[in-house]
Amino acid sequence: CPQCERCRCRACTAPRELPSKWLCDTCQLSCDQVVDKLSCVCCVKALFYHCCPDEDFPSEVPCACCEQTHCCKRWTAMLCVAMCLPCLCCFWPLRCMKWACTSCYDACVRPGCKC
Ligand SMILES: [Zn+2]
Ligand SMILES: [Zn+2]
Repeated sequence: CPQCERCRCRACTAPRELPSKWLCDTCQLSCDQVVDKLSCVCCVKALFYHCCPDEDFPSEVPCACCEQTHCCKRWTAMLCVAMCLPCLCCFWPLRCMKWACTSCYDACVRPGCKC
């Protein structure tokens, strides 16, 4: 790039994700996982996974909006679960924190052009 003299190839300008760590072959410690655990969203995922054997039920993304199937059903279930698991409400603030951390991290480590 002529302005900042940094590389502009795709590898250098691709946004960097927060690092994640494989604890063993099956457990990955990533920021998303921590957010899931802290906010009990992992319980909702497990619940959806066990209670909704539908092929098309997106149990991996319980908080997705209407771009995923069963939007109303999911959100009604989420609200019911949130009554017993108030920590679910921390999910969105935690997501925002994760987003903030990711952009800081990206700003620090991305070697390529940012203009
Ligand atoms: Zn490059
Ligand atoms: Zn640049």
